[in-house]
Amino acid sequence: MPKQREKAVAANIAQRHNRYTYIKKSVYNDIIDHSKKELPLEACGILSGKNGRCDTAWPMENIERSPNSFAISNKDLQQAFKSITLQKEAFTGIYHSHPTAAPFPSKEDITHHIYPEVVYFIVSLRRRTPLVRCFQIKEYKVYPLKIITV
Ligand SMILES: [Zn+2]
Repeated sequence: MPKQREKAVAANIAQRHNRYTYIKKSVYNDIIDHSKKELPLEACGILSGKNGRCDTAWPMENIERSPNSFAISNKDLQQAFKSITLQKEAFTGIYHSHPTAAPFPSKEDITHHIYPEVVYFIVSLRRRTPLVRCFQIKEYKVYPLKIITV
């Protein structure tokens, strides 16, 4: 695809995109607390809710036990999906922490992300004050979303 056309397509997707994400204030605080607790390793988990919101956090074990990557076992993930369904919610987000990096998806984050329909939270603990950002990652493109705590 010519560069110009590629840019136009990306702009189009970004425009069509829901540019907001709604997360419960307590859940927002929970994912920060979980991220701090796992230091120096990356923390990870998934989020669920109704109408695309993030109402519940499901902390997961980072099976890579790494300070710069994360992975969730398929077994844990399936278990969480079951609980989410029982709670009559839907899978709406994934979160993980960056213990020493900025709150932007790494190259690995982008290439490993297989759920383009859910939002992607990153908690950076690089500074004294945690920084949380949210994105949607579709076809290796990253779209920032404004976080609204409710
Ligand atoms: Zn990451």
